[in-house]
Amino acid sequence: MSLDLKSLVRTIPDYPKKGILFRDITTLIEDPQGFRESVKRISEAHADLGITHVAGIEARGFIFGAGVAIEMGVGFVPIRKRGKLPGETIGQNYVLEYGVDTIEIHANVLNSHHKVLLVDDLIATGGTAIAAIGLLRRTGAQADHAAFVIDLPDLGGADKLRSESVQIQALID
Ligand code: IMP
Repeated sequence: MSLDLKSLVRTIPDYPKKGILFRDITTLIEDPQGFRESVKRISEAHADLGITHVAGIEARGFIFGAGVAIEMGVGFVPIRKRGKLPGETIGQNYVLEYGVDTIEIHANVLNSHHKVLLVDDLIATGGTAIAAIGLLRRTGAQADHAAFVIDLPDLGGADKLRSESVQIQALID
């Protein structure tokens, strides 16, 4: 029987604030089979697409994205919060519930010869992932695939991303 990844995710009520049910993947990655299986399922689903880089979103996207990059034998590109990358960067603003945030990647790493798989732990409203896809596409790279460990379908983020012509894999709904 295949491993039930969902049973390894812990739900914490009222974190980071009251009324929010936080899906906590630390219990999944503490489980060696759960962690390995998550990375394997994402890697296998994207094995024959000519992916040249995995891009992971800070911070939990780094955990899964790095594993997927190693498994697929491609490089890893970190997408970070503003001001964290040391070289020249390009950035993309996106709207949060309260205010605006910015994500950045190093400039001059990706170009039109590259095909990128975006990886993050979770998609909710899709705001973060849409900003990340936009940022990757601005480099000229093809960014038409995204993988998430968890999708919260009621929040509609995956559908929004699909309407931007992104193919999505989610391991857990
Ligand atoms: P979105 O932009 O609304 O889709 O939110 C997704 C981003 O917020 C991802 O980078 C997630 O890591 C983070 N996030 C939102 N909700 C949760 C949660 O319940 N657990 C873990 N991360 C979350």
